[in-house]
Amino acid sequence: METVYLDNNATTQTDPEVLEAMLPFLKDQYGNPSSIHRFGGMVRRHIDRAREQVAALLGASPQEILFTSCGSESNNMVLKGFCDTRKHGRGTIVTSSVEHPAVRNTARHLKTTGAVLFELGVDSEGMIPTDSFYEGMVDSDTLVSLMWANNETGVLFPIEQIASHVKGKGGMFHTDAVQAVGKIPIDLSKTPVDFLSLSGHKVHAPKGIGALYIRTGVKLPPLLHGGHQEFGLRAGTENVAYIVGLGKACELAMEHMEEENTRVSSMRDRLEEALLSNCQKAKLNGHKQMRLPNTTNISFEAIEGEAILLHLDEQGIAASSGSACTTGSLEPSHVMIAMGIPYTYAHSSTRFSLSRFTTDQQIDLVIKNMPSIVEKLRKISPYVE
Ligand code: PLP
Repeated sequence: METVYLDNNATTQTDPEVLEAMLPFLKDQYGNPSSIHRFGGMVRRHIDRAREQVAALLGASPQEILFTSCGSESNNMVLKGFCDTRKHGRGTIVTSSVEHPAVRNTARHLKTTGAVLFELGVDSEGMIPTDSFYEGMVDSDTLVSLMWANNETGVLFPIEQIASHVKGKGGMFHTDAVQAVGKIPIDLSKTPVDFLSLSGHKVHAPKGIGALYIRTGVKLPPLLHGGHQEFGLRAGTENVAYIVGLGKACELAMEHMEEENTRVSSMRDRLEEALLSNCQKAKLNGHKQMRLPNTTNISFEAIEGEAILLHLDEQGIAASSGSACTTGSLEPSHVMIAMGIPYTYAHSSTRFSLSRFTTDQQIDLVIKNMPSIVEKLRKISPYVE
């Protein structure tokens, strides 16, 4: 059976070229980059090169890139570091109700330590208001943290515009760009964000490596104290092979960006159009234009998302559902709830996320299988009279 992996917003396959770039650092090039001798120096140069590759993808300078273990760590470092460095109290965090838990739960935790927290709502297309909140909420003691692209719907917030407003009010701006990096062009020389988080395993590098962009001149305390590594901001001997892998993945992402925006988005559109017209009572979730080229999120009225996933899995197709099985009941995702999607649609939301490794034949297979799965599940749905 051919397997079809359409869950690339959850994680991506490691690009063979990335793996190849990493292998020498798991074998012969084992030096500690802090060592003076040639074993160390050689490795240090490869870390420097990786920093340049990540920076190039973002339109940043290499010294603005800090390697971390994952996107969650990058997010934690910014939010906790911001609150820890307030002169009076813990400051204010403004975020949205559709953030990934790595921001949402961190902000909620910081609220219990004394920070003021505002969670902005979104409209029915998952879009954030762009002007209503700056006046009252943002001052020099405020960190605004908004995701660039939503992991469930792919909806893109107008980060350039919001970041400019926030900076105009004297606030700090962080974006969780874990889903955006490598999929859409990002140029931080033109977008005034202070901090940006990214994650290797969403861009065809392995799990366990991430990065944080910190604009030159912006201060953040270390999350890990200890040695001098990573500009004294993250102690611990560097994860050399994974850093090299992330660098290579960013270089490849730059090379493939145009393809991602044309071939991948046209496959996504073909899949979406077919599902919306061939499956009864199907509805697109999220803004149709302002979104990632690789993501579509569709609900099928009165069907459980997890049942769809299990049936797809039987056909070798991997997708994802917004609902999570908690304490025996299927709760719709916080993103669907924030968008005000009616319950009978929200708990069937199904995400298909493509990558540059997706093929037309794989899309054909999903188009062929989905209508009968939907029909079968609707027949046995307790919600249909
Ligand atoms: N932020 C977003 C938007 C994500 O989609 C994810 C992962 O799904 C994360 C943060 C967390 O990234 P990591 O798994 O590298 O910690």
